[in-house]
Amino acid sequence: MAELRSLGNTGLKLSSVGFGASPLGSVFGPVSDEEAIATVREAFRLGINFFDTSPYYGGTLSEKVLGKALKAVGVPRNEYIVSTKCGRYKEGFDFSAERVTKSIDESLERLQMDYVDILQCHDIEFGSLDQIVNETIPALQKLKEAGKIRFIGITGLPLGIFSYVLDRVPPGTVDVILSYCHYSINDTTLEDLIPYLKSKGVGVISASPLAMGLLTESGPPEWHPASPKLKAACQTAAAFCKKKGKDISKLALQYSLCNKDISTILVGMKSVEQVRLNVAADTELAKGEKDEQTLAEVEEILKPVKNQTWPSGIQQV
Ligand code: NAD
Repeated sequence: MAELRSLGNTGLKLSSVGFGASPLGSVFGPVSDEEAIATVREAFRLGINFFDTSPYYGGTLSEKVLGKALKAVGVPRNEYIVSTKCGRYKEGFDFSAERVTKSIDESLERLQMDYVDILQCHDIEFGSLDQIVNETIPALQKLKEAGKIRFIGITGLPLGIFSYVLDRVPPGTVDVILSYCHYSINDTTLEDLIPYLKSKGVGVISASPLAMGLLTESGPPEWHPASPKLKAACQTAAAFCKKKGKDISKLALQYSLCNKDISTILVGMKSVEQVRLNVAADTELAKGEKDEQTLAEVEEILKPVKNQTWPSGIQQV
């Protein structure tokens, strides 16, 4: 069973393994409704209580499929936590108060719910950070007052965006941040930001422990933005693990789960098998089973590309 961890000052307790629902939008290959329902059912059975989606994933498909699956499984609404996002759409970015206010109603309809627990401004480095501070977040506060959302978050790739916004909003306004691809074997740069986030009482969600497919045997999807050098190093590491009879994805997820200052590790899942593997990785860790030897070998392979990332958004910070 996945363990529960507190999320900043929100009072929420999230499962250490969080369910990333972008794959339910068929962004990592097609997923049928039946598979999606079975996957979500298995997630609940194994103690996962946190589900993350966005109108952007699969051009609204992820929200629709997640909503359908949650309804089909039928767990009471107050027993799980849902986060979705606003400001990023298939059509492009729009962080205006008007758009995000409309966006939540569209998301709630697709998800078939009355409220979401967390609404996050999605990939804010693509918008004006000053607009996020002065317009988007105040609009989200109104949605909070209206009871459509319980907490407010911001997400994105460059780590500088988080302190830029948090330094400029009143304390307690932004409840959580979601960082991705910055806390796994190949990139641990999120670590440096954690003391600052803790001092502000902001909850930390870290996504993409498999680096969006880089740290998997089958490799990343075609759209993956990593450099050829980073992709090649990760594939070398994956092949090395396979040869040793080890699973690089398990190693990567366990690495991320070990940092307890991070409330939840959001991993994208699209099959019952993946849910089982990922929760089992957590359970093994709790029992003190960790393959330090293979981890050290993989870290050595990835050393030349350690903390290498890719550009994202408009340069502002
Ligand atoms: P990830 O690193 O979690 O990798 C997902 C890929 O790995 C998928 O192809 C999945 O099918 C596969 N996978 C999952 N478990 C596996 C296992 N045990 N063995 C082999 N392969 C496995 O990347 P992700 O899905 O992009 O990120 C996780 C979630 O975090 C997303 O679904 C989304 O909810 C969230 N996220 C948010 C942002 C943002 O807000 N900007 C960015 C990235 C991710």
